[in-house]
Amino acid sequence: MSEENVQTQKTMKKEIILKGIPASPGISVGAAFLFAKEIPRVDERTVRDEDLPHEVERLEHAIQKSAKELNKILLFAQMKVGDAKAKIFEAQIMVLEDQVLIDTIKQRIRKEKKNTEYIVSDEIGKYAKLMMRAHDEYMHERAHDMEDLQNRIIRNLQQEKLISKLEGSIIVVAHILTPADTMILSRNHVLGYATDLGGTTSHAALFSRSLKIPAIVALGDVTREAETGDLVIIDGYSGTLVIHPTPERIDEYERKREHMMRFEEELAELKDLPAVTSDGHNVELSANIELPQELEYVVLQGSRGVGLYRTEGLLIGWDDFPSEDEQYQEYKRIADRIYPHRVIMRTFDIGGDKIAPEMAEEQNPFLGWRGIRVCFDRPDLFMNQLRAMLRASTRKNLAIMFPMITTIDEVRKAKEYLQQAKADLHARNVKFDDGIQLGVMIEVPAAALTAALIAAEVDFLSVGSNDLIQYLLAVDRGNSLVSALYREFEPAVLTTLKHVINAGHKQGIWVGICGEMAGHPLAAPLLIGLGMDELSVVPVVLPEIKKIIRSLSHKQMQEIAKTALSLTTGKEVEKYLRDFLMKALPDLPLDDTTL
Ligand code: PEP
Ligand code: MG
Repeated sequence: MSEENVQTQKTMKKEIILKGIPASPGISVGAAFLFAKEIPRVDERTVRDEDLPHEVERLEHAIQKSAKELNKILLFAQMKVGDAKAKIFEAQIMVLEDQVLIDTIKQRIRKEKKNTEYIVSDEIGKYAKLMMRAHDEYMHERAHDMEDLQNRIIRNLQQEKLISKLEGSIIVVAHILTPADTMILSRNHVLGYATDLGGTTSHAALFSRSLKIPAIVALGDVTREAETGDLVIIDGYSGTLVIHPTPERIDEYERKREHMMRFEEELAELKDLPAVTSDGHNVELSANIELPQELEYVVLQGSRGVGLYRTEGLLIGWDDFPSEDEQYQEYKRIADRIYPHRVIMRTFDIGGDKIAPEMAEEQNPFLGWRGIRVCFDRPDLFMNQLRAMLRASTRKNLAIMFPMITTIDEVRKAKEYLQQAKADLHARNVKFDDGIQLGVMIEVPAAALTAALIAAEVDFLSVGSNDLIQYLLAVDRGNSLVSALYREFEPAVLTTLKHVINAGHKQGIWVGICGEMAGHPLAAPLLIGLGMDELSVVPVVLPEIKKIIRSLSHKQMQEIAKTALSLTTGKEVEKYLRDFLMKALPDLPLDDTTL
């Protein structure tokens, strides 16, 4: 062995292969970047004279950002937990507005020539320590509030630094990511996301799919195995992450990537063709969007419409809720771009694991203050959104949908708000589509069971299978510990879907599905066979689903549904579907772990 080879052997680290759950397709090779969200230790650094003004500027910026965040939290807190408890946040805002304190921090930065994080932590920390020394429970709690505030300012100081520090192309490795993290990080050149925890229908996973960035969740230990700078391969098709890959391994994945790209090119040829089965049955195939930026991609993928626009994507990056006018501009732009096709806009589904107001430290956020419940508690926000949507509906291609509906009276109440929004616009002499179509998401078991009653009140139903499955099977959609139990083909799920479809059809309205299941290659023919009129899928899988639809007959799909309904376990159903599809469409890259 040559000396050079010996050296390479010595320095080459052992290849590590981790298996997780594929959350967003694609393959990339790049350097890992460990994204840790805990507040890192605050170092004491000396700042050069010429950099002092910049340090003071950083302080001002972090204070402003913290104040905005706290004001938003305060608003929610007053609404939800009452003025008395919300006072904690008021007190924190008052500290931020305390000019004496801010001036002291600024003076100390200039005089001691130390970094802002250090002075903030020392100065606010002093108060917290003093309070802790008091023999009084109340003062102890206030000390914790001061620490919270201190952490918030430091987090804002460091986040800004962290994001601006990211350079080049990276694969983000994290314990868990929120949708907001995913978005903010994607402003840099991110080649992939790999997390210890998470589920495929967690909202961070949905975001990575929208951003077309490969992602793997539930890797278990990736944050312990990988270090910043390590070379890694991320395979979002199969859920494999390779740390320190050998050159042969890199070649192997390059070949796989080329193969998948060829397959995708083949699919691109279907772009302008309709989603019609081989025996002429038309399927409404549309796409979901999370972020307004995805619109062009949706059009490019050949989608005939948008079956779910998750409007809460609009809130990311805003310190405040956008006004009626700001929302109107955005909705109008989307409706115009999709015209003559339809866009179904869902009212804000805040809560759960999405853009959750920080104050609401709920034990069970998915069973908590979420979706329509938040809207009813914040009629001002709800009405702004409804008016904005109505104003954008003049071309009659916009429909409105309500999330997290549980009972029939919630549907009626939501409709009253819509009536009120219409009346407001009439009074203002503003045009809108008076016959606007209205739908409800069926994603809570209670709503599925009473779908017949709900169907009598609306123009369409759209099944939110991500939530419906988690609530039906009592499996948290974002929890990797139970992700193996999150099974879309369980008989309980299939019979519920069939029940909802029948209920809708009996009332003469159409029924669609917009959860991830709609874009699952094994599920799509089954869903159509069960009677779904519309599938709204994540844009990246749309061409593949179209190919499946065009390759099979409606009759075959009905047979599939009949057989699937007769089987007694989810595993049997999945195996049956896989065998069927592998035989009918041998070209389809159906991984073991196909999403
Ligand atoms: C669903 O629950 O299936 C759905 C489409 O809504 P979300 O994923 O936004 O909760
Ligand atoms: Mg949902």
